[in-house]
Amino acid sequence: MSRQDYEAVIGLEVHAELATKTKIFCNCSTKFGGAPNTQVCPVCMGMPGALPVLNEKVVEYAVKAGLATNCTISQDSKNDRKNYFYPDTPRAYQISQFDKPLCEHGYIEIDTENGKKKIRILRIHIEDDAGKLNHDDFSGDSLVDLNRAGVPLIEIVSEPDIASPEEADSYLKKLKSILEYIEVSDCKMEEGSYRADVNVSVHKKGEKLGTRTECKNMSSFRSISREIEYEIERQIDLLEAGERVKQQTLRWDDVSGKTFSTRDKENADDYRYFPEPDLVAIKLSDEYIENIKQNLPELPESRRERYFNEYNMTEKEVGIITASKYLSDLFESASNICGNRKAVSNWIISDISRILNEKEMEPSAIPFTAEHLAHMVQIIDKGTISSSIGKKVLEEMFENPREPEEIVKEKGWAQISDEGEIRKVVSKILEENPQSIADFKAGKDRALGFLVGQAMKATKGKANPQMLNKLFVEEMNK
Ligand code: ADP
Ligand code: ZN
Ligand code: MG
Repeated sequence: MSRQDYEAVIGLEVHAELATKTKIFCNCSTKFGGAPNTQVCPVCMGMPGALPVLNEKVVEYAVKAGLATNCTISQDSKNDRKNYFYPDTPRAYQISQFDKPLCEHGYIEIDTENGKKKIRILRIHIEDDAGKLNHDDFSGDSLVDLNRAGVPLIEIVSEPDIASPEEADSYLKKLKSILEYIEVSDCKMEEGSYRADVNVSVHKKGEKLGTRTECKNMSSFRSISREIEYEIERQIDLLEAGERVKQQTLRWDDVSGKTFSTRDKENADDYRYFPEPDLVAIKLSDEYIENIKQNLPELPESRRERYFNEYNMTEKEVGIITASKYLSDLFESASNICGNRKAVSNWIISDISRILNEKEMEPSAIPFTAEHLAHMVQIIDKGTISSSIGKKVLEEMFENPREPEEIVKEKGWAQISDEGEIRKVVSKILEENPQSIADFKAGKDRALGFLVGQAMKATKGKANPQMLNKLFVEEMNK
């Protein structure tokens, strides 16, 4: 047998924290980053006798997510207790949904190298997040912070329809962008607002699905792709050696690039689910669902269409810009302010994307505003700075965001457009490069480019390139 005879199967369980102001069963704030245990009350601390009350916004947001992913919305659903003991969950049970999830049987479409593919969604249910254990390496203690306990989550469970790390990556990015567009979650991966349990198995083509392993709570696209790739190889190796894959929960280690087995509390997998007696069933009317459907914000797919049709943009531009609602909003506002849509799009797909990549930064973390970007495009259009200085201004806007004009003034980056001054530079460069003059006179066009490049270097990119061109030609034709 060879590796080509195997197929991989991947199923993803995504947890997204909902962007409600308050928690799912109490009025505590969901704000990220507060001092430990400052956003808590008897309900989310799991005090005996404290009664939960379901936050209506949680239902609304979950229904929005269901509609945006083509799910059927259940008009009759309920909450269930999922029992397990762990110090981050003081009640010793999570309130989740077992047999009657809010949304079922949806799908999203992803782009693959063989065209579009539907990935089915088995279900979306609502539940509460657990608290956080902060391990103190110094004292060896674990400190419990319950600010996150009770933050609402939706869990989106895919069918095992995903066949490769690339497809898993497209699925996760597409789903994230949908949730961002409908504004139900900020999906900040660095804050744990968007994380996935990754299930992987392999089997021989034509045979039934293999045994899966699961890696929980992963919150980096890169790590997820690497983990899947590694697991596929590891599982094929096992099968080829005549061994079996054990169904287990694994832990991914980014440094060694390997998975390890965990002695996970959840391997027992007996949660003794039962209906939550402190909450009433969730009954949704047709009007309620219809109303949410009518008010659903524009989805990435429709924005793509609009950019193609109305703006005449290329596939590449549209792909990069609409993948993130944040980038797409930035594009629209900055274009509206400066009126140069093409330039704004170019900055976003080239330099802004490059810097985001280098910094491994989410678009939503971009520190400058649409006005800043628009004003930068304007001062380039006016000739105050060249676009090569624009790159430096942009880098500065990422570091210490402020008005681009202020940056240019402070750094002395304004373009030199004074003819006398430029003529001086031109003479000096010509003096230093007699060979280029000869080449130019012999009809070698590249000589001019070289001279302009030298002059740019000498002025640290500040000379007006059109004027340089003009004056070089003038001087050499004398
Ligand atoms: P659990 O919570 O116990 O992990 P769920 O049914 O909630 O179980 O989730 C199972 C996940 O694993 C789903 O995303 C599903 O698509 C995926 N899955 C099921 N069988 C396989 C398999 N053989 N290989 C890969 N993924 C699988
Ligand atoms: Zn509370
Ligand atoms: Mg699971």
